[in-house]
Amino acid sequence: MFLDRVKIWVRAGDGGDGAATFRKEAHVPRGGPDGGDGGRGGSVYLRVDPGQTTLRDFQYKHHFKATPGGRGERARRHGDDLLLDVPPGTAVLDEASGGLLADLVATGQQAMVARGGRGGLGNTHFKTATHQAPKHAQKGEPGEEHWLRLELRLIADIGLVGLPNAGKSTLLAAVTAARPKIADYPFTTLEPNLGVMDLGDDDERRPTIADVPGLIEGASSGAGLGHAFLRHIERTRVLVHVVDGSSRDPEWDHEVIREELGAHDPALLEKPMLVVFNKLDLSSARDRWPAFARARRAEGGEAMGIAAATGEGLDAFRARVAELLPSAEELKAPPEPAGVVVHHIDSMIERDRDGAFRVRGKRIERIAAQTNFDVEESAERFQRDLERMGIDAELRRVGVEPGDLVRIGGSELEWEPTPWEDA
Ligand code: GDP
Ligand code: MG
Repeated sequence: MFLDRVKIWVRAGDGGDGAATFRKEAHVPRGGPDGGDGGRGGSVYLRVDPGQTTLRDFQYKHHFKATPGGRGERARRHGDDLLLDVPPGTAVLDEASGGLLADLVATGQQAMVARGGRGGLGNTHFKTATHQAPKHAQKGEPGEEHWLRLELRLIADIGLVGLPNAGKSTLLAAVTAARPKIADYPFTTLEPNLGVMDLGDDDERRPTIADVPGLIEGASSGAGLGHAFLRHIERTRVLVHVVDGSSRDPEWDHEVIREELGAHDPALLEKPMLVVFNKLDLSSARDRWPAFARARRAEGGEAMGIAAATGEGLDAFRARVAELLPSAEELKAPPEPAGVVVHHIDSMIERDRDGAFRVRGKRIERIAAQTNFDVEESAERFQRDLERMGIDAELRRVGVEPGDLVRIGGSELEWEPTPWEDA
């Protein structure tokens, strides 16, 4: 059975309680405080396992818990992290809000989905000049828990891009058995529509083709929903750019999409790209087709005229796609994504185009904005916040090295390892 959508509950371990104990000394009723800190609770991670292709593992078991941290009376013991394997292409969504938390694509990528609670501080921390025998010790922090939805988004071989209304869904329906909504409002389709393309009887390849919705002007800068979907086309092998030949200015439409693709990742423009000039059944499109085709040839590109709605030109379209696709063996190997993308439950780390790490997250951006990095104590405090929020660990996980540039909101920092030990 192909399982591509599940709901799971994850619970991180609670932090252990700090201890409020005292040294035993002869003749002294009570020695100094010696209560140790509680251990950190284990966190829950999702990790990509390239050997998996469906979410079958989650069919019957839906509850997952990491272990709690030990209490401060004993040697500090951290809880064990829980690692759950998911197939490449798994999107992790917050069940309550529907928000995308992580998009796990590449082998080895992992995302923390429930953070273990911090251990409570033992009473040794609360001793002061005037208060020599504190009985206060902190309790451990509870571990996070969440309901998550896992959705497997197939990684398509062919991506359809183009402005809304160009005819992408119509083309998908014409060349596959998929039945996407036609002419739906561009913001209503939140998931790419997928179909399997039939290349002909003597072709064993069964490439998947995806209609990538919401690619609009400004999408690459996060203006529209297109932003998330541009990630899906990073993984395609061939791009089909659908242009509405009957629009006011097909040449401009074509340019807008190219700029969007290039702004998101210049490598997208290097992929095999087939431009299809659609709606040739309409006279307004037919009149413009020769000039449009000439312009593409002049650029060294290629374009085909089709009418997705009537089937005109679709045999030639299938034949050309068949030529552009790699061999059957290559199609079976998982494609490599363009970059490391690890969203975090409340912050996420991306790579800027110049290689710098970018940390996104409302809270951490606000704290960064309120930090005066010229004051050492303030900078140190900020570094502790990074650590507390798990961002420091996340940065290490995605491979940050001393001296690398890290951007948070409007601040640019050079990353250096924490000068103190990780608790
Ligand atoms: P999408 O937003 O790119 O997915 O576009 P749709 O596939 O939803 O199509 C938008 C509109 O264009 C719909 O009303 C389609 O019926 C129409 N359409 C798509 N292809 C053709 C075509 O080849 N000829 C004509 N005349 N209309 C088309
Ligand atoms: Mg559509």
